[in-house]
Amino acid sequence: MERTLVLIKPDAIQRGLVGEIVSRFEKKGLKLVGMKMMSLDEAILKEHYAHLADKPFFKSLSGFMMSSPAIAMCWEGLECVNAVRLLCGITKARSAEAGSIRGDLAMSVSCNVVHASDSVENAAKEIKRFFKTEDLFDYAKSEYEFVYGEDERA
Ligand code: UDP
Ligand code: MG
Repeated sequence: MERTLVLIKPDAIQRGLVGEIVSRFEKKGLKLVGMKMMSLDEAILKEHYAHLADKPFFKSLSGFMMSSPAIAMCWEGLECVNAVRLLCGITKARSAEAGSIRGDLAMSVSCNVVHASDSVENAAKEIKRFFKTEDLFDYAKSEYEFVYGEDERA
C-alpha cells in the first residue's frame, strides 16, 4: 500500500493540536508507520521546499518551520497520498473546506498546521528525507478487515 509523509508544523504543536491532527488520520483508517519529533534546519528545509526557494516568503517560511520543533509522520493506506491531501485541505487554510484539518483548525496561508506530500513520487522522496528505513514499521492492523473490502486488502 501507498505511504505518505505528513509534518505537524510548529504552529500546531504550539496550539496543542497534535492529538487532534493524529486522531483525524487514525479515524480515517490509515496506519501510522513512523513518527518522530524533530527540529528542522535550513538544509532540510531548502530541500523540502526547493520548489519555493525563489518565492519572497521563503525566508519567513523557513523561519517559521524552525521556530520550534515539528513532528514527522509516515502514514500508510490505499491511495493514501491523495486521501491525506484531501484530509488536510488546501494551502490557504481560511478558505479550506470545512471538515478538513486546515479548514477546521487554521486561518493562515503560512501557519496552516500540516504538510502533506503532493504526489506518490514526492511522497517517496519526502519519506526518505525524514525517516531512516529502520524508523518505519511494518505491522498488521487488525481493523483492516473493516477498513477495506477484501479486494482492496489484497
Ligand atoms: N506558503 C506560504 N505562503 C504562500 C504559499 C505557501 O507561507 O504564499 C507556505 C505554507 O506553509 C505552505 C508551504 O509554504 O503550506 C508549502 O507551500 P505549497 O504550495 O507546497 O503548499 P502545500 O502543499 O503545503 O499546501
Ligand atoms: Mg506542497
